[in-house]
Amino acid sequence: MVDLHAHLPQLPNAGLGAGLDLLTWLDRYIFPLERRFDDAEDAARLAPAAFRTFAAAGTTTILAYGAVYKASTDGAFRAAEAHGIRAILGKVMMDRVTYDETIEPSTILERSLRESEELIATWHGADAGRLGYAVTPRFAISCSADMLRESAALAARTGAWWQTHVSEDPGEIAEVARLFPDARDYVDVYDRAGGLGSRTILAHAIHLSDRELARLVETDTRVAHCPSSNLFLASGIMPLARYREAGLGVGLGSDVAGGPDPSIFSVMQVGAYAQAALRTVGGDGRSVLAPLDWLRLGTYDGARALGLEDRIGSIEVGKEADLIAVDPRLTAARRDLPYDAGAIEAADVMSRLIFRAHPDMVRGAWVRGRRLEGPASS
Ligand SMILES: [Zn+2]
Repeated sequence: MVDLHAHLPQLPNAGLGAGLDLLTWLDRYIFPLERRFDDAEDAARLAPAAFRTFAAAGTTTILAYGAVYKASTDGAFRAAEAHGIRAILGKVMMDRVTYDETIEPSTILERSLRESEELIATWHGADAGRLGYAVTPRFAISCSADMLRESAALAARTGAWWQTHVSEDPGEIAEVARLFPDARDYVDVYDRAGGLGSRTILAHAIHLSDRELARLVETDTRVAHCPSSNLFLASGIMPLARYREAGLGVGLGSDVAGGPDPSIFSVMQVGAYAQAALRTVGGDGRSVLAPLDWLRLGTYDGARALGLEDRIGSIEVGKEADLIAVDPRLTAARRDLPYDAGAIEAADVMSRLIFRAHPDMVRGAWVRGRRLEGPASS
């Protein structure tokens, strides 16, 4: 399973703040938590537990944000190195609205770029490519045009990924329009910065215009679809069928803690309900995805979004054996009902794993054949 979007330091507040708008939720529940994730000790305390949590949910590859601090991001990489999960991480970059009062504002841009570059030198491609770096400007509201442009240039120069958020919430979109009056729309802000392309993962992308969608497809930019976060914060429902029809590269993200649950199975469930709502209430007549389509979104399509589909994302000869084992008996309506796995079609097994997901159903997770700590052992 590939989680294309999560925030490591936010995990302790998973499930808090349902229904708040994005900017209020950030101020109340998220920035105070990220501000405390500032040194190696904090990372040593939180990151190993976070990676065990993701592995227990069945995630074997994670693309995640740290906080703005180099020391805690470095610590998170150390934890991922030891744990064994496949991880692409990045130190958050913010120079417009930031929660780090220790940095002189006029030096934030230069310092954030330098620290990101130092982390890239240490971690990008480490352990034969199991660990990687994503240059991580938070989003357009908290980054100047200079920060966006310089961060995109750094990613291009070093071969790192570039990740940020786009078009999540109407209030956010209006604020971006106010801050970047020359840009045609939200996607254009990143386009002008040189941020679009096949090494870029944009989270959310809920409210795209036809022009924005076409531009993302044209530049081969990838999107992390985070339906549980989008409904938890009442941001909106992504028109996934329209995007897929247009040829947009999409995978799934938990967006913990915007999303309340680190499980990609749970993300699939909320995504499926959301798409059904779009069809029945929203008037979108396109067909909804079947259970095996959701499985593909959470595995192979996620790997493809990262350009890693030659190594992970499916079970094939020559790939690196990132696997999970699940016990589908736990998804039955009652534990004492007879369960004959051999008599059930794959699509039906997957349907139950999505719609009757059980917190203990992942019994093992492996990356490159090495067993990860986290899943309850059988
Ligand atoms: Zn996010």
